[in-house]
Amino acid sequence: MAHILVVEDNQDILSIISRILRIAGYTVLKANDGIEAIEMARRHYPDLILMDLVLPALDGWLTTRQLKSDQRTAHIPVVAVTACASVEDEQHAREAGCDAFIMKPFDANTLLLHIDNLLNVRPGRGGIEQSV
Ligand code: MN
Repeated sequence: MAHILVVEDNQDILSIISRILRIAGYTVLKANDGIEAIEMARRHYPDLILMDLVLPALDGWLTTRQLKSDQRTAHIPVVAVTACASVEDEQHAREAGCDAFIMKPFDANTLLLHIDNLLNVRPGRGGIEQSV
């Protein structure tokens, strides 16, 4: 099953997202800021990255830009997961290279649907009742 790197500085949200992903069968890697995210991506080559945008050290926009400009990590789909929900925020995220955009708060099924789409996983697992 796919490995997903979750980049999130809020520990509560990080553990909830991790739990949703593990229940769905994914292997979870975690990073608390942008610098750590880049290190983890280069070391473990996750299949997909969930990227909070407001992060310490290096924000999610700059982190995504760096990942997408590096041949080693450019192919990894990045999903922005953020409460920065203006049209401009989404546009900036897309310009930075994010492949999809999820607004907080979101429910587990929305999250898994986006991930499945990007990983080309066939839907069909039971729904998970969990909101973040
Ligand atoms: Mn944050």
